[in-house]
Amino acid sequence: MRRHPWIFESAIAKGGGDSGETVRVESHEGQFLAWAAYSPSSRIRARVWSFDEAQRIDAPFFIAACARSIIARARFDVQSDGVRLVHGESDGLPGLIVDRYGDTLVAQFTSAGTERWKDVIADALLRETGLTKLYERSDASVRTLEGLQPATGWLRGGPMGAGGDSEGPPLELAIHEHQWRLTLNIAEGHKTGFYLDQRDSRKRFADYAQRLGFKHVLNCFCYTGGFSVAALAGMRAAGASAEGHVTSIDSSGPALERARAHVALNGFDLNRASFLDADVNASLRQFLKEGQRFDAIVLDPPKFAPTAAHAERAARAYKDINRLALQLLTPGGVLFTFSCSGGISADLFHKIVASAGADAGVDGFILERLGGAPDHPMTLEFPEGEYLKGLVVMRKS
Ligand code: SAH
Repeated sequence: MRRHPWIFESAIAKGGGDSGETVRVESHEGQFLAWAAYSPSSRIRARVWSFDEAQRIDAPFFIAACARSIIARARFDVQSDGVRLVHGESDGLPGLIVDRYGDTLVAQFTSAGTERWKDVIADALLRETGLTKLYERSDASVRTLEGLQPATGWLRGGPMGAGGDSEGPPLELAIHEHQWRLTLNIAEGHKTGFYLDQRDSRKRFADYAQRLGFKHVLNCFCYTGGFSVAALAGMRAAGASAEGHVTSIDSSGPALERARAHVALNGFDLNRASFLDADVNASLRQFLKEGQRFDAIVLDPPKFAPTAAHAERAARAYKDINRLALQLLTPGGVLFTFSCSGGISADLFHKIVASAGADAGVDGFILERLGGAPDHPMTLEFPEGEYLKGLVVMRKS
C-alpha cells in the first residue's frame, strides 16, 4: 500500500466514528492499514496519524510529532524569524498548520482530528518551542468541509482573567526576512498573517533585480508588498534605486497600506513606488492600452483552483493574466509567475504559461522553476504537498 494519508469516503465499505475520533483502518480482508482521525462530513473521511499498528494515538504521540517537526526546521535553510513549524500532512499532522513569528505561534486547526486534539497539541507546541504565546487562526474555509465552526483568538498566553485590564499580547508583529523588516497582524492578515511560503522566491526576485538592473517593476497581487521590497532592495544593491520604479497592485486596501509602510520601513524612497487598489486583470489590460512596458513582472494570484474540480476555469484565469503579463514585458524582461492551487499540477501550470505565450505571440526562456520555501516541505508520500509552483520566464524578443 502507498503510504498516503487521505482516505476518501468512496473507499470506505463500512465503519465510522465521531468527529475526530481515532479509528482503526483495515483492508477488505481485515488487515491493519492505519490509525486515522475520522471526519464524518468531509469527503476526505479519514486522515492517517500512523501506519504503525503498535502506535498509540495519545498525548505522547502528538508531543513527539510536534517535536520532530520543529527539530526538522533547524536543518532547513530558513532566512527569517518567521518560520512554518508544522506543515500539515508533510509533517505527519494532517490539518495542522503552525507558523512562528518571533516569539509568537499562530496555529490553524483545519481537520476534525486536530480539532479533537487541540489542547494536547497546543501544550506540545509551547513545550517544544519554549514559547508561551499561541494564537489560533482556525478561520480557513476548509474547516467548514469538516463540519467545524471558525475559531480565532489566543489559545495560550492570552489576557488573564475575565474583564481584566490586560489587553493580551500584541497582534501586530514584525519579522526579519533576509535583510528586510516586514510586519503583519496575526488576527487580521491572510492565512496566519503572512505568506511565508514565498520567502525564497522574494529573495530570488531581489537577486534578479540586482543582476539585471530592473527599472520598471510590476508586482501583481502584491499583498503587503514582499516582492516590492525585494525589488527595491535589488535595485538599490545595483545602484539603480534613483531611477527605478515599482508598481504594486492588490484589491485589498489594508494590504496595500501595509505594503506602502514596508517600503518606508526598509528605507526606500516612496517616490519610487506606487500602489494601485485595483483588479489585476483590468489593470493589465489598461497598461496594454496605454502602451506601458515593464522589465519585470510578478504574478502571484490567490488560489484560483482550490481542488482539481476547479482546474478548468482556473486554467483560463491563469492563462489570461500570463498572456497579458508576457505582452507587457520588454524583450529580455523577466516574469515571476506562480500558482498556489492544489488543483493545478506543476506540469499543467507549465502548459498554461506556454499556451499563454503562444497566444501572446511571445517566446521565452524558462530560467528557473520555483516552489515553496523549505519549511513548507513536500514529502515523497504526499505529492499534494506541491501546491505552490512558479516559473521564471525571460522574454526572448
Ligand atoms: N505575493 C504576496 C502574496 C499574494 S496573495 C506576498 O509575497 O506576500 C494574493 C493577493 O491577491 C492577496 O493579497 C489578495 O488580496 C489579492 N487579490 C485577489 N484577487 C485579486 C484581484 N482580482 N486583483 C488584485 N488583487 C487580488
